[in-house]
Amino acid sequence: MAGRDHQLSAAIAAASTTRDVRIAAGSLLAMPAILRQTAPAVRYVIVADDNTWAVTGQRVAASLASAGLPDSDPIVLDEKPRVKASAETARTLASTLRARGALPIAVGSGVINDLVKYAAEIAGTPYVCVPTAASMDGYAASGAALREAGFKRTFACAAPVAIVADLDVIATAPAAMAAWGYGDLVGKLVAGADWIVADALGEEVLNPAPFAMVQDNLLTWLADPAGLRRGDPKALDGLMRGLVMSGLAMQAHGNSRPASGSDHQFAHLWEMEEVTVGGVPVSHGACVGIGCLSMLAAYEWLLGQDLESIAPAALAARTPSPVALQAEIVASFPLSFMAANAEIETAAKGATPERVERRLRALQCNWPNLSTRLRKNLPPTETVRGWLEAAGAAATADAIGISTEKHAADFARARLIRRRFTGLDVLHDLGWLGMAANAFNKGRKT
Ligand SMILES: [Zn+2]
Repeated sequence: MAGRDHQLSAAIAAASTTRDVRIAAGSLLAMPAILRQTAPAVRYVIVADDNTWAVTGQRVAASLASAGLPDSDPIVLDEKPRVKASAETARTLASTLRARGALPIAVGSGVINDLVKYAAEIAGTPYVCVPTAASMDGYAASGAALREAGFKRTFACAAPVAIVADLDVIATAPAAMAAWGYGDLVGKLVAGADWIVADALGEEVLNPAPFAMVQDNLLTWLADPAGLRRGDPKALDGLMRGLVMSGLAMQAHGNSRPASGSDHQFAHLWEMEEVTVGGVPVSHGACVGIGCLSMLAAYEWLLGQDLESIAPAALAARTPSPVALQAEIVASFPLSFMAANAEIETAAKGATPERVERRLRALQCNWPNLSTRLRKNLPPTETVRGWLEAAGAAATADAIGISTEKHAADFARARLIRRRFTGLDVLHDLGWLGMAANAFNKGRKT
């Protein structure tokens, strides 16, 4: 316990905004003391939805009242069938916060947290987060994913000053939400591998401290998926800790690289396309879990190839020209906002033949070390699939409404939507993206 708290303290010391994190059963009892110490304000306002207000918001309100902390009427968002993460709602919320001069306490999961995070940023106030489910890694992250003008994008905004995760509260969330969080957390296996590769190929230097914050304890946090499904407190503690540490690592590094690689590129693609199952949008974590399995299979396939006999100059000569890339983007994204986004992101990636040749040479000459490191860092795809199944999470592309054909095509598309250099770019440089894509479904059959 002491060791785990030490890790958390060290991560907080390196974080840009967050100054206090509690992850324990009963931690809501410390709320008044945390507010006085970390988030002093003239008055507070609880922001929740119907459900989180009834389950937890009222308890927070009562603890503020009994400690004599000034509170204004709660803001209970009641959009039906569910509160949506819209930039418009966040702006309205920001006006209310400003008018009341109140510091918001977000009581909820992903959507409530993102709405309050952005609203607090606009209103120029810090905020405090009370997570009600271990459902995703955004609690401690800077930036909020909100919809505007028809599509979701990330708005820059500060992380919460304090996170009070009461495991007794989180244990009452539906088990499916912890399975989403587990999917988001397994993605860090691939995010770590992508960063190792980007560093070895001279594309992006690996920042050791934020890397270690996520990777050093990842397998421990992921160790008990079956326990998670049963609601075991220790398993839930590990998951919540992993998700919060991921956010703190992003704060320490200044962007999402420590917690988001090609696994999230698939997820962003599917979220932009609004994949659904039975009319219900697929969760972020479920998309990340399948993105992670996709890339584990691709890396596994890559590790079986002979990279020391590749011909970097000849391969680099096949780098798509800007015109060819533009044509690929238009053909890949019928939705114009996605095509426009891909154009900006691929331009920022700047894959010229010279650059591709340089990194292929680096790949070739570093491969003995790099492949050893990747083998050490990446568990087998089927092992991770087993973990996801044990957690009750989606474990096949089909389970999140993605057909085999679409899934195979999405390896090429996922590479186009974010400027971040990942394993998808390596496979593309080698001309092996299609073959690696097939590995996912082949692996399933054997
Ligand atoms: Zn995520």
